[in-house]
Amino acid sequence: MKIKTIGLVAHDNRKKDLLEWIDFNREKLETHRLVCTGTTGRMIKGFFDHHVGSGKKNEVNIKLLKSGPLGGDQQLGAMIAEEKIDLLIFLWDPMQPQPHDVDVKALLRIAVLYNIPVANNRSTADFIISSPLFDSDYIPTRKDYSKYIHREL
Ligand code: PGA
Repeated sequence: MKIKTIGLVAHDNRKKDLLEWIDFNREKLETHRLVCTGTTGRMIKGFFDHHVGSGKKNEVNIKLLKSGPLGGDQQLGAMIAEEKIDLLIFLWDPMQPQPHDVDVKALLRIAVLYNIPVANNRSTADFIISSPLFDSDYIPTRKDYSKYIHREL
C-alpha cells in the first residue's frame, strides 16, 4: 500500500461533517499522512489524540498549516503545485460567503490543474476512500500545459 498524503480542510459549518467522516474512517486514515489547515487540523489532532490506542498515541502523522483565512489554503495549494499532496478532502460551506473566497477558489483550481482527486462533500469522500485506487500507487496524469509557458509574447 502506498502511503498517501491527504489534504484536509473544512469550513466552520462543515467541521462536524469532516470529523464524523474521519471517525468512520479512522483506522484507514491513521496509516496515512494528513496535512490540514490550522483550525481543522487542531480539531483532527485532538480527535486522534483521544481515539488512537494508548500504545500508538501521537503516531498519527499530521501536519498543521496556517488557518485557512490566514494563508493555510494557499500553503496547501503550494504543496499541491509541488506535487506533495495525493488527494484533497475539502468540505467548503455552500451556504456562507467566506472572507478568503479567492483563496478557496485558488485551492480548488490548483487541485484541478494537478489532477488530484478532490472531495467537496462526504459522499465523494466515501467514494475516494473506498476506491481500490486509494490503496494503489496511483499517479495522476498531468496535462501538458507547456504551450502556456512557452507562448509567444
Ligand atoms: P481552518 O481553515 O481549518 O483554519 O478553519 C479552513 C478554511 O477556511 O479554509
